Amino acid sequence: MPNEIVVAGLTGAGVDTWALWGKIMAVGATATLSSLLVVFTVALYRNGDREAPVALHFSVANLCATLYVAGDIAVRICLLSGRLDAVMVPYRLSLSAIVLALASLIALHRVLGNRAVPLRRLSPIYAVGLLLVLLFWIDDPRLVIASDQYRVTPVGVFADYGVLAGPVYVACLATLVAVAWAMLRRARRAEGRLPWRMTVFGFTVFFLAGVHDTFRELGMELLPFSGLTLACAVFQIGAFATMAMHYSKTLRERTYHDHQMRRLADKATRDPLSGLFNRAYMEQHLDRLPAEGAGGLLFIDLDHFKVVNDRYGHERGDRLIRAVADGIRQTVREQDVACRWGGDEFVVHLSEAGSDAALAVAERLLRAFRHLDPVAPGLEMSASVGFAQLTDGDWRATLRRADQALYRAKAAGRNRLAIAP
Ligand code: GH3
Ligand code: MG
Repeated sequence: MPNEIVVAGLTGAGVDTWALWGKIMAVGATATLSSLLVVFTVALYRNGDREAPVALHFSVANLCATLYVAGDIAVRICLLSGRLDAVMVPYRLSLSAIVLALASLIALHRVLGNRAVPLRRLSPIYAVGLLLVLLFWIDDPRLVIASDQYRVTPVGVFADYGVLAGPVYVACLATLVAVAWAMLRRARRAEGRLPWRMTVFGFTVFFLAGVHDTFRELGMELLPFSGLTLACAVFQIGAFATMAMHYSKTLRERTYHDHQMRRLADKATRDPLSGLFNRAYMEQHLDRLPAEGAGGLLFIDLDHFKVVNDRYGHERGDRLIRAVADGIRQTVREQDVACRWGGDEFVVHLSEAGSDAALAVAERLLRAFRHLDPVAPGLEMSASVGFAQLTDGDWRATLRRADQALYRAKAAGRNRLAIAP
């Protein structure tokens, strides 16, 4: 590339050092936002979000656009620093980025129409894009698609490129116009949707930038460069904001959904009156226990509970059940599981508990019950407890033994623990 062409090119493009620094900073910010877009896209995919395919192709288009600007900057730097030997690589890179951005825009157009289009049906679009990209790197005289003449004259334009360059550029431009047209038409129908509007806006800016660059090569300043740079910056910020808004909406919906699921799951496993686990949950929990060393079961039954109901009414009885449940919750360790088995019966699974430990827990429980707020003056609450160790992996048999021990505790005068042999 002769020096006078380089100088003419730089003047024609209106490049000075400040403009270059401005561009470098803009591309740095764009690259940061694009990386965040990629993070959002991955998060949307992991959440199984409906908009994830849109986000994917949108992000690829964005990354390619960033790559284009970065390549363009590198070209300028090479020219300014006189590294003419290195200029072709970033130049070809930026042209390749345009073609790949075009491929991702076509894919984006497809998924905007139908989110369910699988990636494998869109991969041929990217494959064709990659094949076209190869053309920019071939040095065959017929295939000079990326001319090494930085600034061509309108007369010399055909001489500087290979014969196939024209058809390639025309095909790219025709595709670009067709996709732009289809997108604009669809955007009008899908009114009110921010991602749509952002896409069309970005697409238009991208298109105008391409037109601007083409004419710049012919020495014509068709559009104000600063206006285009500003539009690009607005688009990048807008795209990021759109994605962030969509992601936060998805996250909100997901959190709400998880909350509902947890509430439902809780409802299914909790006893509504006491707040302890219910019988179904305890059965499931005991079914999952290992055969060996699984601890033991406490079977608790309140003493003379019927009297409370009969004398003071069911409401007081309910309150007492809740108070007893609180007492159990505060007494057992975190790894123990307590449930309301039914009526005034509670079952506690003590993990890793021998008879001594069971005795200690039962004593603490009985003390806690004794200190509950009395339902009526002079009426002390108490419970009888049976304990059996889980020995042979059959928790139903163990519970029966604990029940028999409980029966013995009742028979022996209540308010005590009996341990199954
Ligand atoms: P014992 O010392 O022999 O256990 O005598 P008890 O009066 O406690 O008799 P039992 O355990 O057989 O009776 C349990 C009573 O619990 C029977 C029923 O009226 C009462 N009950 C069962 N479920 C509820 C409930 O959800 N709320 C209230 N308030 N009472 C209940
Ligand atoms: Mg009872």
